[in-house]
Order: sequence, then C-alpha cells, then structure tokens
Amino acid sequence: MNRSDFARLLDQLGSLSPKQRAQVQGILTALPDTAPSAVARIIPGPEACPHCQAPAEQLRPWGHSHGLARMRCHSCGRTSNALTGTPLAHLRRREQWMHHAQALIEGASVRKAAQCCGVDKNTAFRWRHRFLQAAAMHRPAHEGGIVEADETFFLESFKGQRKLPRPARKRGGAGAYFERVAVLVARDRSGQTADFRLENVDAAHITAVLNPLIDKDAILCTDGAVIYQKVARTMGVTHRAVNVQKGIRVLDGAFHIQNVNAYDSRLKQWMSRFHGVATKYLENYLGWRRMIERYRQNISPNVCLYEALGRWQPQQLMQT
Ligand SMILES: [Zn+2]
Repeated sequence: MNRSDFARLLDQLGSLSPKQRAQVQGILTALPDTAPSAVARIIPGPEACPHCQAPAEQLRPWGHSHGLARMRCHSCGRTSNALTGTPLAHLRRREQWMHHAQALIEGASVRKAAQCCGVDKNTAFRWRHRFLQAAAMHRPAHEGGIVEADETFFLESFKGQRKLPRPARKRGGAGAYFERVAVLVARDRSGQTADFRLENVDAAHITAVLNPLIDKDAILCTDGAVIYQKVARTMGVTHRAVNVQKGIRVLDGAFHIQNVNAYDSRLKQWMSRFHGVATKYLENYLGWRRMIERYRQNISPNVCLYEALGRWQPQQLMQT
C-alpha cells in the first residue's frame, strides 16, 4: 500500500464503530506473522541429515547462519539447516514467504503474487514453481474402497519457451490428437485424489500408475472404455464400468464416476484462470489443485509451507 493510502486508512480508523474495530482487530491477529524469525520458527527441523540420511539424532547444533539454526552431522561431518535439500533452499526474502503461500491459497496470478510479496514477476513465477515442486509429488499412498478413475485432457503448451521442442503443428490438423496431454485422475470415496500425466492413453501406462495406488480389494469404477477392462484384469481388481454413452450413469446405486468427473470440472474451472499452462509445469498445477482440495477450509500459509518443504505428516499439520 502506498504512503498516502496508508495515511488515509489510519485516519479512517478513528471513525470505526466498536463492532467494526473488533472486526479489524480480528483480521489483524489472524494475519500470519511474517518476520523472518517467525518464518524460521515455523520451518520444521529435518528428520534426517540431508547429506547422508543419518537420523536426526546425529545432528548437533552448529551455530546459526542466514537466520537459521545450523546443524552438523555426527555421521558425515557436513553441516546443514532446515532448508538444505528442499525446494526452498537458497530462496531469498524469507519474510515474504507467508504472503506467497497466501497467494497460492488464493490461486493468485503471478502479477498479483508479485504485488503481494513486493517482488518482481520473474521472482514470483520462480517462487510459485519452487513452492509447488514438492506438492506436485504429494499423492495419496493408496486408495481403497470404490475408486473412480477417468482420463482428462489438457492442451499441450510451450508457453514461455522461446524455442519449440518440435515444429509447430496446425490446430485441428492430423497432429491434433497429439496436441493434447492426457491426465488420469483416480479418486476414492474418502476423497483421496491422485492424478498422473500419461505419456500414452493405453492399458500399460494406466496400469503402471494405478497398480501401486489401488488396494487389491478395491473396486475400480470407470466409463465403458475397453482399455479399463484390461487394466482391471492385469491388476486383479474388481471392475465396474458405467456406460455413460448409453446414458447409464449409476450402477446398483453405488458405482459411478461422478466424483472423479466433478473433481475434473473443478480442476478445469480453477485452471482456466491461468489461460493455459505450460505443459512442462502441468504437474505442478495439478499438485497445487490437489493441495487446495486436500485441506479445503483448513488450508493456511503454514500448511502450504510444509507442503513446499515436502513435509506433510498430518500430525505436524494439525499443530500448525
Ligand atoms: Zn550426515
């Protein structure tokens, strides 16, 4: 906020009613503490030496540097801090990180995030993808019960890249099919959601991502595409296919793919604000959306910071 706007705001504070004053106080106390030392306090200590993976008990205090506690590993003798080896290592302006995390929660544009954090757009863009790098890898370890799976497509995009990795194809021409990037979304009825960029929409690629994810006693629900029969057979799971094209949407009252389709449309609607994302960052955006859906109203800048550090044990998140 510029100086004259701020002066005007201060002037107006005097005319608040008691109720309004309480509201303002509430907002101010709820704002995250953005002092660098406060951010340093939120950053969890490492679980292991980032160099040799020795357990945290091997790490001894070794002074401070750049406002963070340093530790020396008894095992390998190397020093580290809580950010060593994480995507946030070496990012500057730590006092702005919580503002940036808030911008992620709001799904703010790069321009808006840059404004909130007082950094330039290139920095805001770099921060966005550093903050999302770990979240992009955060998928449920397994899904069970009824698991709905369906594929969805995004336009391939080389946004921001000066050189195309291959000659441009004409829209709608013979190459049109290849200009779409396939993503498989799998969601169980507890709401756990995983998605995977597929190199190819075939049984082998779909099996490769679903097999480690889906419990053996789960029931896989898909549309009528033949491919999924093969996938289910290879994986040895029960399969229920709804013939959506024939107008059959629900089988036996329980088997449908409406949850995964609803997830997909929320994802698409949310992504539309970015006006097409570069394919090389697609997984970061998918992870971003999963993060927002994972915590829903419980998401906070602290939670985002933990996700950015690749630390997402639920008990830790509950404490923050
Ligand atoms: Zn070590």
